[in-house]
Amino acid sequence: MGRRSRQTGTVVELVDNRDGSFDSDDPNGWFTVCVDHGGVCSHETRKLAESWLPVPAEWCPGCQDSEEEAS
Ligand SMILES: [Zn+2]
Repeated sequence: MGRRSRQTGTVVELVDNRDGSFDSDDPNGWFTVCVDHGGVCSHETRKLAESWLPVPAEWCPGCQDSEEEAS
């Protein structure tokens, strides 16, 4: 389930990819996804992924663009 990031107002999701269903080429088991922009970032552990989830402007190009527009 997605949740709304307080940083950007976009919906972000934590994806468990330990079964390789999301992107079989990526060795990392966890992904953060910005649903609004389709930006994704892979992470080695769930703990890491959860730490990045609330700050999509750090890993989603779409969020970075809208942050620049806002400032
Ligand atoms: Zn985004």
